[in-house]
Amino acid sequence: MTDTQNKAPSDVSGGSSVTEVSQLPSIMASARTGFSEYSRMPMDSRLELIKKLRHVIVERQDEISKVVASATGKIKLEALTTEVMVVVDAILHAEKRAPKALANKRIRTPITFIGKKSYLEYKPRGVVAIISPWNFPFMLAMVPAVEALVAGNSVVMKPSEETPAVGSLIESLFKDADFPSGVAQVIHGGRELGEALVKSNPDFVHFTGSVNTGRTIAGITGPQLIPTILELGGKDPMIVLEDAHIERAVNGAIWGAFANSGQVCMSVERLYVQNSIFDAFLDRLVNETNKLKVGTQNSDDIGLMTTHRQVEVVKRHVKEALDKGAKLLTGDHPDTWEPNSLKIRPMILTDVKQDMAVMQEETFGPVLPVVPFDSTEQALALANDSRFGLNSSVWTHDLAKGRRIISRLRTGGALLNDVILTIGNPYLPYGGAKESGVGSYHADSGIQNFAVQTAVMVDHGRKVREVNWFPYLGKEDLFQKLLKSYWSSSRNFGKFGLSYLKLLSISRKG
Ligand code: NAD
Repeated sequence: MTDTQNKAPSDVSGGSSVTEVSQLPSIMASARTGFSEYSRMPMDSRLELIKKLRHVIVERQDEISKVVASATGKIKLEALTTEVMVVVDAILHAEKRAPKALANKRIRTPITFIGKKSYLEYKPRGVVAIISPWNFPFMLAMVPAVEALVAGNSVVMKPSEETPAVGSLIESLFKDADFPSGVAQVIHGGRELGEALVKSNPDFVHFTGSVNTGRTIAGITGPQLIPTILELGGKDPMIVLEDAHIERAVNGAIWGAFANSGQVCMSVERLYVQNSIFDAFLDRLVNETNKLKVGTQNSDDIGLMTTHRQVEVVKRHVKEALDKGAKLLTGDHPDTWEPNSLKIRPMILTDVKQDMAVMQEETFGPVLPVVPFDSTEQALALANDSRFGLNSSVWTHDLAKGRRIISRLRTGGALLNDVILTIGNPYLPYGGAKESGVGSYHADSGIQNFAVQTAVMVDHGRKVREVNWFPYLGKEDLFQKLLKSYWSSSRNFGKFGLSYLKLLSISRKG
């Protein structure tokens, strides 16, 4: 990708042929046929396939990084560390944890159900539709797919039309890993195809993308009662207290705000710094930002924006802020940006107001607005003043204080003295609060979300009837005694046992 590239609107397949909406019925039929065999495979056989996929990715890592970098404009090293590495680690996590996460779990049974046993069983859901965006086009399609597959589902993936080459690449990786026919399909197209996929009656939908599209999808799956995970946008706050390690906090803020040109759902989009260190912090922040190199070479730090649409959003937010009195401390005024260029120097803004778009809407670009605060109460109020709640970070030497602040932040993830990283730890569940999402994946609980959980109770089946079954005659008084003896403050197991035995004897006679 060059920094002024315009993609042809029809080029959404990346070398594979564009999928027509009319092809979906046969794709879904094939996914269902694939599912019926694959879901019955023992866990070990599924794990073999997933492991092979991991080996294929490791073998082809350089090619994958190149394709992702060229499709998105990100630096190749970033493609390697934030996409390829995260995916292989997520696969390894699935290999290690899925057998335990999806094994039957013995569950306690209360004494009132004496003689019975309870357990949980996890069953594949069926066909899982996975719709993903362009900013991490490899990772955000692969990780949910792997978790769905390891749980025994078949998947139909619709990666973003903005990065079509990555969709084709994903298709070839599953082929190389010898997944059975129909089990891991990739379809190529845009919004219309995505919506048609959601309407084609999948058993589960995993969507990553914007809040608006999330709402549209929920509007389709909601009435059909199709379970849906929505991983949506963010406006993540970073709070720096006066006792923080300033150098580290500056470096963290810069990486958190400008990695992937700020096109990270968990980018630092709002930076709140305590007043007593504000000026010194800002000086260092501007100095360090000025050292960053923008371009597409391995020696550069900040790559290109991926889409012209997103450049326009960034331009609108920055212009509005500057028009309303904000100051641009480094970076270029949008009026001076080269037309059609995807190359934007990182920008630091001060004198912003909390009600500006750059503080309330997702900017998704290399822009960092910095705001001073006096007290932690004020910082918390500002940080929580957002319709988003994806991730957040607090910076302080006082870890206990940091944890207390984190307890009051309404976000799906949070870090102390670090940024973004929670998404990279596959052992932690990943999902947003407020408008940043519904549900979560990653971790044991995330893998379990791709399964139907069946709660099972087992009785040995030798009694004629249970104490609570018909007929009711003569039981009310005994049940009242049972209640009193077991659940009141003066617990008496002897009386409980006596009432229970009497109930049993009535039940035996009928
Ligand atoms: P988008 O919502 O425009 O598109 C995402 C995907 O949805 C694409 O594949 C697109 O073709 C498809 N799509 C669009 N309309 C659809 C419809 N009506 N029905 C079904 N599918 C449809 O998002 P984007 O611009 O590609 O990605 C950027 C957004 O994604 C940002 O808001 C970012 O914060 C968010 N994001 C969230 C996470 C997360 O994990 N929470 C991660 C990365 C990106």
